[in-house]
Amino acid sequence: MHLARFPRVRLVHAPTPLEPLPRLTELLGGPRLYIKRDDCTGLATGGNKTRKLEFLLGDALARGATHVVTHGATQSNHVRQTAAAAARLGLKCTALLEARIADGSVEYRNSGNVFLDRLFDATLEARPAGLDMNAEVETHAARLHDRGEAAYAIPGGGSNPVGALGYVACAQEILQQADAAGIVVHHVVHATGSTGTQAGLVAGFQGHSSGVPVLGISVRAERSVQEDKVWQLAGRTLELLGVATPLAREAVRANSDYVGPGYGRPTPEMVDAVKLLARTEGILLDPVYSGKGFAGLLDLIRKGRFGKDENVVFVHTGGAVGLFGYRDTFDALHAS
Ligand SMILES: *Cc1c(COP(=O)(O)O)cnc(C)c1O
Repeated sequence: MHLARFPRVRLVHAPTPLEPLPRLTELLGGPRLYIKRDDCTGLATGGNKTRKLEFLLGDALARGATHVVTHGATQSNHVRQTAAAAARLGLKCTALLEARIADGSVEYRNSGNVFLDRLFDATLEARPAGLDMNAEVETHAARLHDRGEAAYAIPGGGSNPVGALGYVACAQEILQQADAAGIVVHHVVHATGSTGTQAGLVAGFQGHSSGVPVLGISVRAERSVQEDKVWQLAGRTLELLGVATPLAREAVRANSDYVGPGYGRPTPEMVDAVKLLARTEGILLDPVYSGKGFAGLLDLIRKGRFGKDENVVFVHTGGAVGLFGYRDTFDALHAS
């Protein structure tokens, strides 16, 4: 695999740290926990979408684009990072925000990521829940095109083979850091949504024949649906990279036991996980993705899913800005 073959703009403060979580590891009595700090990718409070945007916007610029169009939920971290990257590159940005949480609070609708989207001067358009949002983006880009603008459509979460290259790069980074430090990575765990992160990691680890398994904790879709989507995108990503070895379906594993009532809907376990990591390690998770992902990791640890002496790397995909859109959840569920 040779990532320099693909157009790329440098946005990530790379490498992001790979840090041990010593206090939490001791508290739980193992496994040895590490965290890959992709919440520190450096652009507008960080997060995983920035790695994808390096390749997506590299492609956009190579095609002469002047305007990027994308979509996300109201509190989308992807939209915030796209808006910031577009500002940085002098591109216009339009984001279609899907009202997946119809009863969101004033803070949910205006604070956190939405506040920052506006600060970056993105054009925001609301959409009701349940539409084919990638199709909405394509339609909007076509409309801009008719008006003479060179528009570039980015799918939700930046999850296509080009975007997934960002997480192939992250897999390479994790292997380099682990090799340099002499840490055998027994498991990688992270929150999975639009699938580009897991697909890129799986493709990257497979492309290096590393034998590192990746477990995605789903924040939305049911397990088999999520695994199929990740598997398909990982396969297309390997194809783009010119890797001929087929990817076994069994190499893709997701767990959807921690979604709770639905996407973006808080769970008590998410609140507990956010509080636990904040109070033992001083690290902020987010309410929609990494909080549920970490809640899943903690539950699986308690159920003995990992060996006490194994090394588990949690990829922190960012999103803590979203906490400000969910302040009432934390006030209500945990006054402590
Ligand atoms: C988008 C996002 C994810 C999920 O990544 P996908 O590539 O969409 O699966 C996880 N965590 C955070 C904070 C995100 O914003």
